[in-house]
Amino acid sequence: MTESSEYVVVGAGLAGAATAWHLASRGHEVTLVERNVPASHDGSSHGSARIFRYAYPDAFYTRAVLESKTLWDELDRASDLSLITPFGAVDYGSRRQPEQLAGVLAGAGVEHELLTAAGARARWPHIAFDTPVLWHPGAGVIDAETSVRAMVDLAVGQGAVLKTGWNVTGVEEEGAGYRVLSDGGESVLAGNVVVTAGGWLPHLLGRLSLPAGFLAGMPEITVRQEQAFHFRYRDDSPWPTFIHKGPEIQTYGLPGGRDAGFAGQKVAEYNGGGLIPSAARQTGVVEPANRRRVVEYVRKYLPGLDPEPYAETTCLFTNTPNEDFIIDRAGGVTVVSPCSGHGAKFAPLIGQWAADLATRAADLPGRFRPAGSGVKAGASAGTR
Ligand SMILES: Cc1cc2nc3c(=O)[nH]c(=O)nc-3n(C[C@H](O)[C@H](O)[C@H](O)COP(=O)(O)OP(=O)(O)OC[C@H]3O[C@@H](n4cnc5c(N)ncnc54)[C@H](O)[C@@H]3O)c2cc1C
Repeated sequence: MTESSEYVVVGAGLAGAATAWHLASRGHEVTLVERNVPASHDGSSHGSARIFRYAYPDAFYTRAVLESKTLWDELDRASDLSLITPFGAVDYGSRRQPEQLAGVLAGAGVEHELLTAAGARARWPHIAFDTPVLWHPGAGVIDAETSVRAMVDLAVGQGAVLKTGWNVTGVEEEGAGYRVLSDGGESVLAGNVVVTAGGWLPHLLGRLSLPAGFLAGMPEITVRQEQAFHFRYRDDSPWPTFIHKGPEIQTYGLPGGRDAGFAGQKVAEYNGGGLIPSAARQTGVVEPANRRRVVEYVRKYLPGLDPEPYAETTCLFTNTPNEDFIIDRAGGVTVVSPCSGHGAKFAPLIGQWAADLATRAADLPGRFRPAGSGVKAGASAGTR
């Protein structure tokens, strides 16, 4: 017997879980299919730590974080969890432009402070600040994996069906809808399909029955195998999250939480990992050259950390050239790619946007619809 569902969501990372949650809470029939398990260890949403921050050079994203926070609060209430731990954030470095970021936060009414490098060093002596620093206390750390599970649980609680170990090989048009096929020989008939496949999207894109013109309008999607390292705290001083865009290297760091045994800071070079054709080609192996660069960086700029990493991991960045998300639709197929290294903080909002677009309840800004709305991806003021 062929199963059917009004909506099939492909992939249960942060984006798919959030989309399923929103669709199910609006009363739609949803089947969420995942090739492995929710928050798969080889995707982008595993583990305990992603930065939640308001500071963006582009005020559009700062406003979106404010909108997203109201949904995170709703998710906390619905799941009885605290998914974001407040640590605050510091942004600095010659290319980070803390003064400009402060202007954006002021415009959006987000509490913040601009400090001199000396003032910041006095407050956080474990960080060797090299420029003025933006501090905003509303930032924190998202427990990504727990968030995925919470949204999947809520979706299932509202009637969604979760299928794990269900690897989609393609989507074919059938009647007024689609047949979603799996490599196990099963299929589900769907009125609409939402594809939230993370780093597997480049591989799947040509198999989704999308029109050639739509595919031609898609920006290039690249996948990187990012690497993050955990460094032990030398003492129990409080650590904020940070983004440092210095002259030689761009890094970010955050309390690593559960993944780091609550004992250290997770530090990574932004876009420091090598390009891979698709998630299916990841090795999960840390590159020694990247480890050396990050260790060198920690020695120079983070005196409060033991510069020998005690744990390390890889994770996938799925990037568009201007780092805008893709949330676009052709017919009944919606494609969602929110990674670009900064999508976690928007997860519940991305779910809302994807549900709006898939159900035709609302349209989205043209910047997210490079193929469907005919608006070409433009330059962005930057997301990091
Ligand atoms: C190292 C790292 C650090 C980051 N730091 C931050 C940060 O500090 N702040 C921030 O806001 N964001 C951050 N991000 C970005 C954020 O984590 C991502 O935007 C988000 O996790 C993307 O979720 P996703 O659902 O699109 O992808 P994924 O989590 O990869 O989910 C895709 C899912 O689809 C499944 N799937 C794929 N193909 C198929 C198929 N054919 N059939 C069925 N299932 C399929 C996969 O198994 C996977 O579970 C970071 C990301 C990484 C990797």
